[in-house]
Order: sequence, then structure tokens, then C-alpha cells
Amino acid sequence: MIAPCQHELLKKHTACVVWLTGLSGAGKTTLAMALEKELYNRGVHTALLDGDGLRLGLNSDLGFSPEDRVINVQRTAQVCKLMVDAGLVVIVSMISPQAQSRTMARSLFNPGQFFEVHVNAPLQVCEQRDPKGLYRKARRGDIAQFTGISATYEVPESPCLILQTHQYTVSECLEQLFAILEPALGRYSINGRMNQQPD
Ligand code: ADP
Repeated sequence: MIAPCQHELLKKHTACVVWLTGLSGAGKTTLAMALEKELYNRGVHTALLDGDGLRLGLNSDLGFSPEDRVINVQRTAQVCKLMVDAGLVVIVSMISPQAQSRTMARSLFNPGQFFEVHVNAPLQVCEQRDPKGLYRKARRGDIAQFTGISATYEVPESPCLILQTHQYTVSECLEQLFAILEPALGRYSINGRMNQQPD
């Protein structure tokens, strides 16, 4: 069997999870896609797990009750674990409103392998953006248990990073992400050069 560290050697970067949590409309999908593109350009092998996408397949049997949201995160975290063991940088874009679920997700990984990033904008800004028209529907009462309106979002207490998307542009947010990710991507720089002394 090939050990996780051997996969990392092959890929020339360490594997980790970048878990983007936040309200609908905060900018998770936008930033996840921008991050994936930039990592790809720098030779990093990624996988992008988008909450909406997963609800069409793996999690299509789940609703939005608190219990189902726990399972939603649990399954996603387990998929992340498999992908990290295969040497990938996994980007998750998922509201994941419950702090305890996010803690459970983190607990599957070694220290330094799980980056909880709070993609943050005030509810009013998210509602004004309303990229999928969901807030409008939720306010009309057409969507029950909508996070931020009729279901709670538990703000991360100690995330690795808070991205204030109402204050910074997408590229500024990316810079902030890379500031924490670059040192974490291991002894090989994302350009393929060594950026730390090997052990
Ligand atoms: P989410 O995935 O969190 O529901 P989306 O990424 O689908 O949110 O939508 C966020 C919206 O906010 C997009 O229309 C995006 O263009 C806009 N936006 C404005 N500034 C930013 C920023 N700094 N980061 C991310 N999105 C931003």
C-alpha cells in the first residue's frame, strides 16, 4: 500500500483541506473556484467539493434539518479524508453552519492539515447579493430552515482565517488565503522549487 506521505512526495506538495464556511452569498463558491484555478496554475493537484453540487449526488437524500446538516458535513469530511490521503489539496465550499460539525471534520485530520476559513460578509450584504435568489425565496417563506434567516449560523470561534468579502476583492482574498497556504503546502514550493530544507 502506498502511504499518504508517498503520494505527497509524488505530487511535490503536502495535502490539506481548505474548508470555506459562511453564509449563502458570502463568497465561498467564488473564492473556492478562484483558489482552485490559482493552485492549478501553480501545479497543485486539487479537488473542489461544493455543498450545492454534493447535494445533487452523494448527499441528495439529505434535507436541511439540523440532523441532516450534521450528516452532510460528516460525509463530506470523510470524502476529504480519502482525498487528502491520496495527496490532494481539497477545497470545500459549504455553509456548514454548526460549529460542532466543523470540529468533527477537523478531528479527522492531523494538525496543520485542516484550514477552517470563515468567508464572511454581513447578512445584509449577502442578502443584497443574493446570487441564487435564495434569500428572496426564504423571506417569502418558500424555503424553510434557511441559514441566516430561519436557521442559525454559528460563527467560527477560531478559524485560521476570516475573509471579509465585503471589504476585500476576490484577488485580495486570494492573497490572504495564499499567505496561510503557501507555508503549509510543504517543503516544495508551489512552483516546484524547494522552499524549506528537507528533513
Ligand atoms: P456562496 O458560495 O457563499 O453562496 P457565491 O460565491 O455564490 O457565494 O456568491 C458570492 C457573490 O459575491 C458573487 O456574486 C461574487 O461575485 C460576489 N463577491 C463580491 N466580492 C467578493 C469577494 N471578495 N469574494 C467572493 N465573492 C465576492
